[in-house]
Amino acid sequence: MLINDPSRYKEYLPITGLAEFNKLSAKLIFGADSPAIQENRVVTVQCLSGTGSLRVGGEFLAKHYHEHTIYIPTPTWGNHPKIFTLAGLTARTYRYYDPATRGLDFNGLVEDLSSAPLGSIVLLHACAHNPTGVDPTVDQWEKIRQLMRSKSLLPFFDSAYQGFASGSLDKDAQPVRMFVADGGELLMAQSYAKNMGLYGERVGALSIVCGSADVAVRVESQLKLVIRPMYSSPPLHGPSVVATILRDSEMFNEWTVELKAMADRIISMRQQLFDALKSRGTPGDWSHIIKQIGMFTFTGLNSEQVAFMRQEYHIYMTSDGRISMAGLNMKNLPHLADAIHAAVTK
Ligand code: PMP
Repeated sequence: MLINDPSRYKEYLPITGLAEFNKLSAKLIFGADSPAIQENRVVTVQCLSGTGSLRVGGEFLAKHYHEHTIYIPTPTWGNHPKIFTLAGLTARTYRYYDPATRGLDFNGLVEDLSSAPLGSIVLLHACAHNPTGVDPTVDQWEKIRQLMRSKSLLPFFDSAYQGFASGSLDKDAQPVRMFVADGGELLMAQSYAKNMGLYGERVGALSIVCGSADVAVRVESQLKLVIRPMYSSPPLHGPSVVATILRDSEMFNEWTVELKAMADRIISMRQQLFDALKSRGTPGDWSHIIKQIGMFTFTGLNSEQVAFMRQEYHIYMTSDGRISMAGLNMKNLPHLADAIHAAVTK
């Protein structure tokens, strides 16, 4: 049994990782019938989870792309500015979240991207924006796409939560596929940390959609030159687990059912928290709790209220008021609602 265990195979992978994993990852995000894949315009390299994919993509752009400014949303995942700055890019911000509506600042976003220099890189959260839980609608995505393509802004998608937002892998990939369908170029960083629970395996992929198959071949060889001196080659175990699931239709279906169950549970926790605040008569409009998407809710609580909840109720969250919906259950939800009520009314 021990002798036959396939995980005992410990050879090096090639610089670009496990080829089958790369192919299946591109299909998962771009769609099995993606014309870009069929035309061999997509290069995919296995990287060290989402972070490593962003970093390799950032270094590649710093070396080979003509514009070194990357626009990131405010707010964004705290690691984004550090990853891109250390990769050699200059990080600037575009407006994203409107504290007044606790929703998308669409006009601010459009204004900021409209005034970005031609060809700038723009970091976009593919779905379930971290930390706000606020995503553009399909209509707004279409407007963002048109604006970006008209100014030759290069999309760099970060997909850390595919399947977590709606419970459907395809639906969560829709914004990305809209950008691929227009034939333009883009970068895509994928993580399997959340949607396959493979956090510690550090398994992810960077894909670059190129203008032609010929460019894709050259991009791949340059990506190898970025990766080789950074970590030589990626690990083997994680991508083997992912490929085993993605290649097998029965396991794949089982995974999608589990993903949907997780997403649905989060959505129902949103409703229950909203209802609990309503039944307590907590002042304010809490509808953003049900409108926001994915693992996180940006509650709108200020740092003083967050500190009060920590001291008086032992509820711990980031000081910007972000809570992880995945940490809520029927048992601890009333305690959280009591704490929010007390913080708001004190
Ligand atoms: N992007 C976003 C928006 C994230 O929230 C995370 C994880 N918190 C990541 C990327 C990367 O995570 P990992 O490197 O573990 O895949």
